[in-house]
Amino acid sequence: MAFRRLWSDRVLPYIDLVMSFAGFLRRHTLWVGLVAVLLPLVVLLALQYRWLVKLDHTSAKAHEATLDNYLEAVGSEVEFHYSGMAERVLDLPAPIFTQHKLEKAAHYFKKKGSEEAGARRLFVVSFAEGEEESEYPRFFDPSCASLTLPKWTPEVQAISVAIAPWRMMSHKGVAVETVSPKVDERDPEHRLLLYPITDESSKVVGLAGMVLDESHFADVLLPKIVKKALPKFFQDGEEDPIVAVWDRKGRKVFVSDWEKKGKMEVKKAIPFVFTDWKIGLASRHATAAQVARRNFAVNIGLSAVLAAVLLGGILLALQTASRQMKLSQMKSDFVSNVSHELRTPLASIRVFGELLRLGRVESPDKAREYGEYIETESRRLTQLINNLLDFASIESGRKSYRFERACIEDVVSETLKTFGVRLRQNGFRITYEGPEAALPAVYFDPAAVAQSLSNLLDNAVKYSNGSKEIAVGLRREGSWAVIWVRDQGIGIPKDEQAKIFERFHRVGTGLVHDVKGSGLGLSIVQHIVQAHRGRVAVESRPGEGSTFSIHLPIDPPDASPAGVFATSEA
Ligand code: ADP
Repeated sequence: MAFRRLWSDRVLPYIDLVMSFAGFLRRHTLWVGLVAVLLPLVVLLALQYRWLVKLDHTSAKAHEATLDNYLEAVGSEVEFHYSGMAERVLDLPAPIFTQHKLEKAAHYFKKKGSEEAGARRLFVVSFAEGEEESEYPRFFDPSCASLTLPKWTPEVQAISVAIAPWRMMSHKGVAVETVSPKVDERDPEHRLLLYPITDESSKVVGLAGMVLDESHFADVLLPKIVKKALPKFFQDGEEDPIVAVWDRKGRKVFVSDWEKKGKMEVKKAIPFVFTDWKIGLASRHATAAQVARRNFAVNIGLSAVLAAVLLGGILLALQTASRQMKLSQMKSDFVSNVSHELRTPLASIRVFGELLRLGRVESPDKAREYGEYIETESRRLTQLINNLLDFASIESGRKSYRFERACIEDVVSETLKTFGVRLRQNGFRITYEGPEAALPAVYFDPAAVAQSLSNLLDNAVKYSNGSKEIAVGLRREGSWAVIWVRDQGIGIPKDEQAKIFERFHRVGTGLVHDVKGSGLGLSIVQHIVQAHRGRVAVESRPGEGSTFSIHLPIDPPDASPAGVFATSEA
């Protein structure tokens, strides 16, 4: 008992909920499918967008970092070059730094440095004697490989200012821990590279130095270093940035590619020497930010195109699925409608047949009437089966027509005669309007055209909605023979009028629900008429009735006496 109550109170509502949810899913499969696909797609796109924004940011930063690193590498190369040169040329032995032996410095300079193009001048100064005049700088004269005592010039002044602190250190006996080349650029016209010479107790005994050659730096050294460093940072030669160097007055002294103009992205001071000069990089095509923006636009564009293609594909698939579902629904309706259409005339035939067999029909008139019923119903069955067979042959592409030159009016009146019995039985009144003048013989398939007309008449009866007036006519319109059927039945809404000629299509609203049908009649009419190079048209208003007209060319352009000119194109 308790279990049953628990079951009905607690469990059943959940089961109901699950069932109704499952029902909802089944009813709205397409929408659920669309949402199930769209939702992850939107999330994916949003994530992609975020990721791209981040990538955009970091790639711009990475690009800038590459440019920075490149400039640093150029700076290091410059330092490496000058330090190396100083150590190679200026590192002279300490014992020669005395008044008498200093002349030997010329010999050393000649041996290892006189050909150094980076130096405008080499000089030495000795602090060993501790006397003012012997501590005057001596210039190396490469022409006679000797030292000379220069006159007082701005150059000598620059050197004297630069060596003053060293002289002081020497006099005070300050020990120098590490010996390395020093730069003095206080006079930009005379940039100096000094190398302290120390004795075994690390005390400065003198200085060897050089005055740097500006034009050699700009014209020879920079191009070499820039060219050497570029491939290490920029693999693609096309994308190489343009390198430019400005001197302290802001004049451009070097550009790696004079012909190209670019947007300057990074500008830095040169470290170590020429520190008041600037080196800069310009991108050949676009700046880092522009490249990143372009990449971002390309990526987001690609993603959008991809998403659109994906969405298009999904929509197409969903549309196909929806069409298939509709078609399968139509097919199952078709099966139930056809079975119903078969069953009704069969039931009448069976009842009238039984009555006749049991001898329950007394008067010959009644027997004739029942016979007519049986004949009419059999004709209906035949028409239905003909439609089905025609549909099958149209679908499989095997439908063929037997054309002949015949009188179309005969075919119309013959069909009306055959239909007349049924119409009369059902209380219909049928009127016929013939052509004003007799029509010439038309080239057509009489059986097929009769079947089309029967289908139209059958519909006029089925969708009559109680109005028993049907009008049929035949007229000539130029080179066309027009057969028309007018009823005063339920009519067809405007938006349905083109669709009713599609196979299985049945108007889904209003009274038509109560009328059984296969949904094939009009599609067969259209196929037959098109095979005759003609057309079928409908004029209709809901509630007021419909007029269907079949237009057949009196002389089709490809009419041949052989008899067959059109077969089905299913
Ligand atoms: P069915 O077997 O359903 O009659 P048809 O192909 O002959 O198939 O017709 C297709 C649909 O067109 C019908 O289901 C009906 O809704 C509509 N229709 C056809 N003829 C008429 C008519 N005379 N009056 C109103 N509706 C019609």
